[in-house]
Amino acid sequence: MTPAPHSVNLEDLDPDQRAAALAPRGPVAILAGAGTGKTRTITYRIAHLIDQGLASPNRVLAVTFTRRAASEMRHRLQTMGVGGVQAQTFHSAALRQLRYFWPQIAGDLPWRMLDNKFALVARATRGAGLDASTETVRDLISEVEWAKARLISPDQYAESLGQRTPPQAADKVAEVYRRYEQAKNTPEGFLLDFDDLLLHTAGALENSIGIAEEFREQYRTFVVDEYQDVTPLQQRVLDAWLGQRDDLTVVGDANQTIYSFTGATPDYLLNFSRKYPHAAVVKLQRNYRSTTHITNFANTVIGKATGRVAGTRLTLQGMRQGGAEPEFRTYDSEPEEARGVAQEIKKLQHKGVELKDIAVLYRMNSQSEAFEQALAEAGIVYQVRGGEKFFERPEVREAMARIIRAQQQGAVPAVRGADLGGVVRNILAPVGLDSQEPEGARARERWQALRALVDLVEELGRATPDLDFEGMLAALRERASAQVPPTMQGVTLASLHAAKGLEWDAVFLVGLVEGTLPITHAIKADDEAIEEERRLFYVGVTRAREHLFCTWSKARQEGAKATRKRTRFLDGLMPEPTPSTELTQPDRTRRRRTCRICGEPLLSPAEKTMGRCEDCPGGNEEVFEALRTWRAGVAKDIQAPAYIVFTDATLHAIAEALPSTPEELLAISGVGQVKVQRFGQGVLEITTQFL
Ligand code: ATP
Ligand code: MG
Repeated sequence: MTPAPHSVNLEDLDPDQRAAALAPRGPVAILAGAGTGKTRTITYRIAHLIDQGLASPNRVLAVTFTRRAASEMRHRLQTMGVGGVQAQTFHSAALRQLRYFWPQIAGDLPWRMLDNKFALVARATRGAGLDASTETVRDLISEVEWAKARLISPDQYAESLGQRTPPQAADKVAEVYRRYEQAKNTPEGFLLDFDDLLLHTAGALENSIGIAEEFREQYRTFVVDEYQDVTPLQQRVLDAWLGQRDDLTVVGDANQTIYSFTGATPDYLLNFSRKYPHAAVVKLQRNYRSTTHITNFANTVIGKATGRVAGTRLTLQGMRQGGAEPEFRTYDSEPEEARGVAQEIKKLQHKGVELKDIAVLYRMNSQSEAFEQALAEAGIVYQVRGGEKFFERPEVREAMARIIRAQQQGAVPAVRGADLGGVVRNILAPVGLDSQEPEGARARERWQALRALVDLVEELGRATPDLDFEGMLAALRERASAQVPPTMQGVTLASLHAAKGLEWDAVFLVGLVEGTLPITHAIKADDEAIEEERRLFYVGVTRAREHLFCTWSKARQEGAKATRKRTRFLDGLMPEPTPSTELTQPDRTRRRRTCRICGEPLLSPAEKTMGRCEDCPGGNEEVFEALRTWRAGVAKDIQAPAYIVFTDATLHAIAEALPSTPEELLAISGVGQVKVQRFGQGVLEITTQFL
C-alpha cells in the first residue's frame, strides 16, 4: 500500500491549541470552555504524535463519550492521513479487551452480554419484598448503575449515600442490588452488564501481571475527551490501562458536567495537575464555534451558576462576528410551539441554512413527538437521534445488499476515490435514486437516505483517493457496525444529553419550562441537581453556531389552561416575552417594516427583505439578471435548488444595495456569515462590475 498523504497542518490551530498539540509525551490536560477546539486539538495532537513518529497509530487509544464521537474522530484522523488509531467509548474498548482476555481470566466459562436488565432487576425487586412496578424497577436500575459507577458494593451502599436520597429504603436497595448481582451468575455462565465489562477489564489488568504486560505492550498513549464526565469506574479502567505510565491527554470543561446523575464527576479533571504535578495544563478561551451573540449569552447563562463547579468559570471569547441575537418565544401550547419551530425552520431554510445544520434539542426523549409531528406536517425531513438507525432502514439495507452483490458479480468498474460515488449511484438508480428528488414525504425520505449513502461513499473516496471498491465496502461496513448514520439532509432531533460535543448552525432549545428544564426530580432534589440542569442548558446554548432560539409553551395541550412557567434559567437574561406572533428580538437593523421608497407598511416577507413594496421601483434589473445567471451556475455545481444559494428576494436586495465588501454583503437581510464565506466572492465579482 502506498503511504497515506499526510496533512497534519498545525497552522490550523491557534497558539494555545498548538501548545497543547505539541506538548511532549506525558500528562496533558486541556481545561477549556465549549467550542474552544478541545476535540480538534486532541485530534491534531494524536495526528502530530504519529506524524512525528513519536507514537505508532496502533498503540494509541482515544476514548470518547459516544460511538458517534468515536467514529467522527477516526474519520477526522483518516482525513489527516492517519489511520489505524483506536477511537472508542470506554464500553466498546472494554468489550473488545474482555473478549480477548476472557480465556486467560476464566478459561472456558461462558459469558454473554446482558442487554436489558429489567427482568432480572424486577425479580430482585420482588425478592426483596418490594412492589415491582415499572417505575420502581426503573428507579432501582438507575440506582444500581449509579452504585456500580461509583464502585460501591451492595454491602457499602447504605453507608455511601451521603446526601443522596435513595429511591427506596437503603437496605432494600442494597438487597435488590445484591440479588441482581447474584442472579447474573447462572448455571449456563455469566451474564455481564455494561458496568461489569468495565469492572472485569480493570480486574483482569489489576490481577494478572501477564494480561497487564500484554495490554501495556500494545497500548501506550491514551487520550480522553469529555473527561469532566468520567465515572470512578471508568477512571479505574483508565488507571489499569496506564499502570505506572503517564502518557495521558485529557480534555474537558467542568461547566459541561451533565452526567453526575450516573455517578460521573469532574473531580478527576479538576484534580489532574495534583495527580500529575508535572502535567502540561492548557486553557483555551477563544470560541470558534459561535457568534459573539451566542457566546455572550452563554457566558451570562453560566455566570449565574453557583456551587462547586462554578468556581472553575471560564469566560468564552467569541471569535465570530455577525449573526443574530438569540430569540425567545412563548407559545400557548406545546403543539403551537412545535408548529412555530417548524415555521422558523422553514424561514431558516429560505435563508439558505441547510436542514442538516439545524437541531431541535429537548430535555426528555418523550418531548420529541410533538416536534416530529409538526415537522412531518410541514414536510420537513428530520431524524431522531437515538431513533431508527440509518443502516437499519429498509432502503439502506437493500442498497447495501445491492452494492455487495455488484461486487460479488464483479460488475464494478475499477475506479478509485471520489469516483466511487458515481458507481454506487448507478447501482442504486434502479431502487429509486433518480436524478430528481421525488414528491411525497416517504419517497423523499427514501431518496434522501440513498443519496446520503452515495454522499458518504464520495466523502470516503475524497479522504482516501486510492480507495478501491472493496476498501469502500469495508469502510461502509465499519460505519454500519458503529451505527453512525451519514449526515442526512434533515433536521436533527435530540436530547440535550445526546447533543454533547456536537454543533449546528441553528439550534432550537425547546420546552424550556419549570418541571422540564430543570426537570421535576432535580427541583425536588437539591441545589446541585439544579446546577446540573443549568449546565445542561448551557451545553444546549453552546451547540449553536449562528442562530439560537429558546422556546416554551404555557400549556401542554391546545386549549388547556396555562399552568406552565418559563424556566428559571432565563430569568433576568432576556427581554420579557411578547405574544408568540411577534419576535421578541425583532431583526430591527436588517428588516424594514415600511417601504423605503413610498413609506407604506410592508406586507410580505419578500417585501421586508427587499425593503420596498413589490410595485415600487428600485431594483436594478440588469444586476439582478446577472446574479440570477450566476446563481443558476452555482446551484448546478453544488447540486442544490437555486433558493439554497439565495432567494429571489435576497438577490433583489443585493442588486439594489450593490455591496462591494463582504461586510456590506453581510448587512443584507438573508445573507449570513456562512453564505458570505461560500458565495461572497462570486456575488462581489458581479456587484463590483456595476458600481
Ligand atoms: P465542546 O466543548 O462543545 O466539545 P470543543 O472545545 O471540543 O467543544 P471543537 O468541537 O473542537 O470544540 O471545535 C468547535 C468548532 O470550532 C469546530 O467547528 C472547530 O472546527 C472550530 N475550531 C476549533 N479551533 C479552531 C481554530 N483554531 N480555527 C478555526 N476553527 C476552529
Ligand atoms: Mg468537544
